[in-house]
Amino acid sequence: MAFETIRKPEDIRASAALNDEIRARFTWADARAMLTGLPGGKLNIAHEALDRHVAAGHGDDPAMTWLGRDGARRAFTYADLAGRTARFADVLRAHGLAPGDRVFGLMGREPDLVVAALGTLKAGMVFSPLFSAFGPEPIRTRMDIGGAAALVTTEALYRRKIAAWRTDLPSLKLVLIAGDDAPEGCVALGPAMAAASDDFAPVPMDPEDPALIHFTSGTTGKPKGAVHVHGAVAYHAMTGKYALEMRPGTRYWCTADPGWVTGTSYGIIAPLANRVHMTLVEEEYVLEVWLSILQDERIEVWYTAPTAIRMMMRAGEDIARPYDLSALRFLASVGEPLNPEAVVWGNRVFGRPFHDNWWQTETGGIVIANTQAMDIKPGSMGKPLPGQVAGIVERDGDGVRECAEGEIGELALRPGWPSMMRAYLHEEARYAKCFAGGWYLTGDLAMRDADGYYWFVGRADDLIKTSGHLIGPFEVESALIEHEAVAEAAVIGLPDETAGEVVRAYVCLNPGFEPSEDLEKSIRGHARGRLGPAVAPREVVFRKTLPRTRSGKIMRRLLKAREMGLPEGDISTLESDET
Ligand code: ATP
Ligand code: MG
Repeated sequence: MAFETIRKPEDIRASAALNDEIRARFTWADARAMLTGLPGGKLNIAHEALDRHVAAGHGDDPAMTWLGRDGARRAFTYADLAGRTARFADVLRAHGLAPGDRVFGLMGREPDLVVAALGTLKAGMVFSPLFSAFGPEPIRTRMDIGGAAALVTTEALYRRKIAAWRTDLPSLKLVLIAGDDAPEGCVALGPAMAAASDDFAPVPMDPEDPALIHFTSGTTGKPKGAVHVHGAVAYHAMTGKYALEMRPGTRYWCTADPGWVTGTSYGIIAPLANRVHMTLVEEEYVLEVWLSILQDERIEVWYTAPTAIRMMMRAGEDIARPYDLSALRFLASVGEPLNPEAVVWGNRVFGRPFHDNWWQTETGGIVIANTQAMDIKPGSMGKPLPGQVAGIVERDGDGVRECAEGEIGELALRPGWPSMMRAYLHEEARYAKCFAGGWYLTGDLAMRDADGYYWFVGRADDLIKTSGHLIGPFEVESALIEHEAVAEAAVIGLPDETAGEVVRAYVCLNPGFEPSEDLEKSIRGHARGRLGPAVAPREVVFRKTLPRTRSGKIMRRLLKAREMGLPEGDISTLESDET
């Protein structure tokens, strides 16, 4: 590998929550033992996240600091959030909703959204968050698939995105509007909460009762509605502790939007279940704002996405110098492959380790990760967390064949971890296809090395076959961004008569570089030198941006469909897209 292993100092290893002994002995019973539970084997995510801490005397501990776009700052203790979620649950009940009903959230990163999510769960109802930036149609489709009984949103979003079609969705009984006023036919949340009781005990749920519906990012096709249960909180508590080193009081910031599974699992549930002090930031990525937050809030653990780091890399190596980031213990990222270049850059510029995490909406929580106790191989996703059994397999008829060390195959997991999805809503066949030979098949290709580290290769759909070689786009993209001019890259395969497929790359340039024939040659030459002529892209196309999902993932299938003049498919999650 081109990048050397980053060794962790002994004091960091020793202070890590996850050591080899825990890894070796861990069972799911150990994860469940991190919860308090409710009598009779019942539990409730909201109880684990809030009420149990209040009952244990931590009601005055800081739970969440919210930073608004206009400089506003609001602090919430565990008791505050426990009280507000009780009132929210009481409002739902007062309007005739019952356990099992589905409540959708359509709001930016605001405290009301956190209250709505946990208040819904407290009432035993099912919560489904949506991106506030979705257009009316993606919202309507998802609420229709989910059989929405209630929606929590803002007046502006309601008028722009809901009002026109509201009556088409007869299941929708209640629309709650944040603030003191509401349009006709809706209920204002402020006065309703003020009139509600904060004496609402979390409804005892069976661990297998549905709690959340998360729609996948739609990177590879039509988004799926993954159903998760209350018992998942055991996994959130445990992975928060071991992968993200959350301890009571840890200053923690997850940049993800709650419209995406990361923003709920690790933006709300895991941190609160671990009694951390989390930060919720309304602002989208603005370099100086984000660095100031890391400094001023004394953030210790920062959970973000590769695109944020790649954007920072564009700004140059000196960006972090003016800031005091001494509180930071490490950075972590999820959602897309973390290029080795970014790991090394993060390590150098922040002076802290950078941990890649792999998981998906379906897994509900982090599965493969670099942890504080591990040395880091830049470009590797790390190792399976305790309790997880991962494999590299190839489908073989109705079963699978297990691949050898170093062989590329589909990443598979032994089912049974607490936060695993229990269904794709209304899509039984699609769900059943995820399982074979006793494995859950992830749809991602990966490789395991001799030390047990896992390496992401690409999505099964994105694999390129050229002149007898199998090429994962990630490897090519990572080599491309090592070129000084390249900020981001997306690689696809296009049909070719002789080679089967040829590799085509789309790149965005760093500031100070302009598209030119010479630059194209230089980038291709660099890739050839790094990867060899068979694997290097035959063509490099310059673009201002790459098409991305709202969760920040490059949509390679869209680049390919356009190139081949094929239908674009479901693009409901498409965020940015200029050529
Ligand atoms: P859809 O399933 O609708 O096509 P999606 O798979 O992008 O969309 P998510 O569940 O949000 O929806 O994303 C999970 C996927 O993101 C993983 O299956 C993997 O392909 C990719 N991913 C997440 N983390 C990593 C990582 N650390 N390294 C590489 N890929 C990652
Ligand atoms: Mg997926």
